[in-house]
Amino acid sequence: MAYDPDNIFAKILRGEADAAIVLDEKHCVAFMDVMPQSPGHTLVVPRQPAENLFDLDADAWTELMATTRRVAHAVQAAFEPAGMMLMQLNGPDAGQTVFHLHFHVVPRYPGEGLAFHARSMADPAELQEHAARIRAELTSG
Ligand code: AMP
Repeated sequence: MAYDPDNIFAKILRGEADAAIVLDEKHCVAFMDVMPQSPGHTLVVPRQPAENLFDLDADAWTELMATTRRVAHAVQAAFEPAGMMLMQLNGPDAGQTVFHLHFHVVPRYPGEGLAFHARSMADPAELQEHAARIRAELTSG
């Protein structure tokens, strides 16, 4: 499948679609998942137009991993979850639904199951508030 430059994440990266932005840098952007599986569910997206893991060059992958680590630390500090899942669904057969590579940072809370994947829209104001909490915890290293 060829990369579709009109996928929703490409539009967010170009500023053509709204998102609750957590981080906006040269190599990566992070924003709140609009259908979060738990409070604080954040997506980390490389700017390079890559549909999946196999399309991203090694340097961009290194940047993506470093940024995902920083975002995970910030989510941990902001939400203090008991645990955290990092996921990358690679290809439709793995459940990928948006065909621009991304990592999910999904906090886990005691006694709270995961919401269904990509099912229920969250309140936009709440997502903005969550993004602000994570931004406040982001550090450079
Ligand atoms: P995946 O199925 O791994 O490709 O994940 C795509 C994720 O993107 C799902 O968790 C969706 O809830 C989320 N999503 C879809 N549209 C948007 C959007 N406009 N802004 C933020 N997250 C989105």
